[in-house]
Amino acid sequence: MSIAHNLQKIKASLPENVTLVAVSKTKPIPDLVEAYEVGQRIFGENKIQEMTQKWEELPKDIQWHMIGHVQTNKVKYMAEYVHLVHGVDSFKLLKEINKQAKKYDRTINCLLQIHIAEEDTKFGLDKEELFAILDSDEFKALNNINIKGLMGMATFTENEDQVRREFKSLKTLFDLSTIKLDHLDTLSMGMSGDYKMAIEEGSTMVRIGSSIFGSR
Ligand SMILES: *Cc1c(COP(=O)(O)O)cnc(C)c1O
Repeated sequence: MSIAHNLQKIKASLPENVTLVAVSKTKPIPDLVEAYEVGQRIFGENKIQEMTQKWEELPKDIQWHMIGHVQTNKVKYMAEYVHLVHGVDSFKLLKEINKQAKKYDRTINCLLQIHIAEEDTKFGLDKEELFAILDSDEFKALNNINIKGLMGMATFTENEDQVRREFKSLKTLFDLSTIKLDHLDTLSMGMSGDYKMAIEEGSTMVRIGSSIFGSR
């Protein structure tokens, strides 16, 4: 199946309130162009250098989402253009994004990444760390970042009950967070293998790569 076909099929299946991030990491520019030509404008990448190269070469109406783990010392390379950083997993990183955004007189949208998987290989904050950030005065003073919501990755497993449980726990945290920050509107959860379940559990943003562009 072609990229255009895959993309259109997935788009048609998504509820109206769910945003599709086309995860194009490792894929060559012509693949992204094919998706662009059928209307896709949101792309997700997990390496800053690769994302920046693609940003330089492709049309400027694309929204670039950083979905991977971000090292503090690399924030400066994407601060000029990145639309949404999904993987903010420390206060230190948030402060650096704020600092770099300020240099470009921008506000950078961020999601706080929550550790929901039972595997301990995945990055993310736990509930206490999340609320410690949201409640701190230092956080409230950051004027060049805008927290839009939360992001999480479920365990890579065939066990659907476990994945569902993890998505539910993230949705619960999201609802609790909206009590503190009432403008939150983005819950980024779900990938090729589990996005349908993620949507059932309240996702508003799915990050889909291989089902669009083929395996990596
Ligand atoms: C690669 C990646 C995806 C997309 O994964 P697929 O299984 O190819 O859909 C989604 N989210 C994150 C954080 C990723 O790194």
